[in-house]
Amino acid sequence: MAIKIQLDDLQDEQLHLEGELTPAELELKLSEDEALMQAAGPLAYALTASESDDTLIVFGRLQMDFTAECGRCLKPFDFPINLPQWAVALPLKGDDAIEFNGDSVDLTPWLRDDILLGLPQHPLCDSACEGLVSKQETPPPTDDKPSEDWSKLDDWKQPKS
Ligand SMILES: [Zn+2]
Repeated sequence: MAIKIQLDDLQDEQLHLEGELTPAELELKLSEDEALMQAAGPLAYALTASESDDTLIVFGRLQMDFTAECGRCLKPFDFPINLPQWAVALPLKGDDAIEFNGDSVDLTPWLRDDILLGLPQHPLCDSACEGLVSKQETPPPTDDKPSEDWSKLDDWKQPKS
């Protein structure tokens, strides 16, 4: 079930929303940039919604577990996303007004966007991870190579997005 807010329920009061959204319900589609990431569980949310000056304000906590594959050593590792102070303000009237069906607003797209923003494009199991390749490679002779070439080689080794 998508997270929908009935605007009629918001007259002069706050609305509390708590529950879970599966990755399918969240319509989470990972692009090629996020190919190393897999959802490992549902999105858990605990949100408070209110309306003020024709703006829908929603804030609260989002939490979702992912499994990532290290971009250097390919080792899988847990990558939890925690957004304890997530917030969004959605204008209900005027030129910037969001789309809504009848009296309800579907929060799912905003949740999805911010979860996707939290995913790294180049996940690393550890920032000091040396990866598989560099450990097995015999370093080429260094005699005549200026150091600039080494940095280029390092760039080339980075996985391309
Ligand atoms: Zn690694």
